[in-house]
Amino acid sequence: MENGAVRTAQPVIVAIDGPSGTGKSSTSKAVAAQLGLSYLDTGAQYRALTWWMVTNGIDIDDPSAIAAVAGKPDIVSGTDPAGPTITVDGVDVAGPIRTQEVTSKVSAVSAVPEVRARITELQRSVASAAENGIVVEGRDIGTTVLPDADLKIFLTASPEARAARRSGELKGVDIHTTREALIKRDAADSSRKTSPLAKADDAVEVDTTDLTLPQVIECVVTLVEEKRAGK
Ligand code: C5P
Repeated sequence: MENGAVRTAQPVIVAIDGPSGTGKSSTSKAVAAQLGLSYLDTGAQYRALTWWMVTNGIDIDDPSAIAAVAGKPDIVSGTDPAGPTITVDGVDVAGPIRTQEVTSKVSAVSAVPEVRARITELQRSVASAAENGIVVEGRDIGTTVLPDADLKIFLTASPEARAARRSGELKGVDIHTTREALIKRDAADSSRKTSPLAKADDAVEVDTTDLTLPQVIECVVTLVEEKRAGK
């Protein structure tokens, strides 16, 4: 580099995958904010499509009915980590996509190949539009959506730790019910035929069971910085 020249960081693509309750969203948002990157919550996109299916009376138990309308709603994600947004046909659905009803139905919708093809295309276009780079969180980002990501992280945690974190978020919901629901959703997400929840061969696995959120964030930020420095 010339004397006095400012080093401009190359856009960096970070894929963060793992089951629910591992701290993916909190970690991804914080890492993106600290490093000046965009942020994409891909789970929110599957939830948004599921919300639209439920609202429009589509039979969730009929994959061909889901496939037939998978391309209909217009799903738009705002990628500022300080305030990510999600709309369906212009309607803000950030609240409604977190209901128990959507959560219990999203795995069935996301298992439909036409749904995955459509949402994957959307995710790739969001990632390629991010000028400074992006942190993309989900289940199949490192394996399928962005296999050439600069850094792939796979977050894990014990079922007990994951259920405890989720119960904390859902205030008042019984921890055993949460644990059972999490295990059921992970099993469905891991066993589906099309791009299941899986660790990419070249992903760095971080077990967050005994780590605090700030520790996980620091760990991932360090990994990104090492990548950028070419280590
Ligand atoms: O991350 P979140 O819990 O919001 O994800 C909701 C659901 O969306 C998951 O249970 C899974 O069925 C689906 N999903 C997916 N692939 C992704 C992200 C989420 O299938 N990349």
